[in-house]
Amino acid sequence: MLDRYLTQISFPKLFPEGQRKIRSTSVAVVGVGGTGSHISELMVRMGFGKVKIVDHDTVELSNLNRQSLYDEEDIGRPKVYAAHEKLTKINREVEVIPVNLKVTEENADEILGDVNIIMDGTDSFGTRGVLNKFSIEKEKIFIFSAVEGSSGMAKAIIPGRTACLECIGYPTTGDSIPCSVNGLIPSVVEIAASISVTLAIKSILGYAEDEIIVFDSWDFSLEKIKTKKNPHCEVCGFKA
Ligand SMILES: [Zn+2]
Repeated sequence: MLDRYLTQISFPKLFPEGQRKIRSTSVAVVGVGGTGSHISELMVRMGFGKVKIVDHDTVELSNLNRQSLYDEEDIGRPKVYAAHEKLTKINREVEVIPVNLKVTEENADEILGDVNIIMDGTDSFGTRGVLNKFSIEKEKIFIFSAVEGSSGMAKAIIPGRTACLECIGYPTTGDSIPCSVNGLIPSVVEIAASISVTLAIKSILGYAEDEIIVFDSWDFSLEKIKTKKNPHCEVCGFKA
């Protein structure tokens, strides 16, 4: 146990309580495409207690340049089953649960009701809207991330403490523009995933701030922009 996590528990901010918190935290990664593949892999490697992977797509050839959990033999398979196979080989101490469904307002509680953190690996504005609202209602941490071209952004949404997606005016309805339209440099999903997982850890350890992180993997730029909860927000405005 200690050997496996030695380098991370040696990091002062994770020592000694951090790994115990990671171990006792269950997460759901909604969308195991580009960003979601890397998020779930990192969380399984780091030893989160339970990692639920949720997606309703099958693996396609055009996914393989950036979706690290899949290979050519997985083409045509449901993503969550292929991902489950890879993830359990990486770390059998972690309970990995595949859910081959699309999250909707109707089934959100059934799929996400038993996790502490919801990780955004989706590419749909509408699904993000559902996750944002659900996380506020059920007081779960929601780590939002989005990528396009060479740029991306990520934010920790902590109910009652930070701004939510609605507060910052991010679209919460409709489908996103498919990544084939504006293109996507594969490195950007790894950066978005790394920042998201760090935000999740900082959130459970009380280090997360109310800010959005915006980066570009072509310009090598990264900016932290302060955000503020809107007391009149339609989603989170009634929470203290
Ligand atoms: Zn809000």
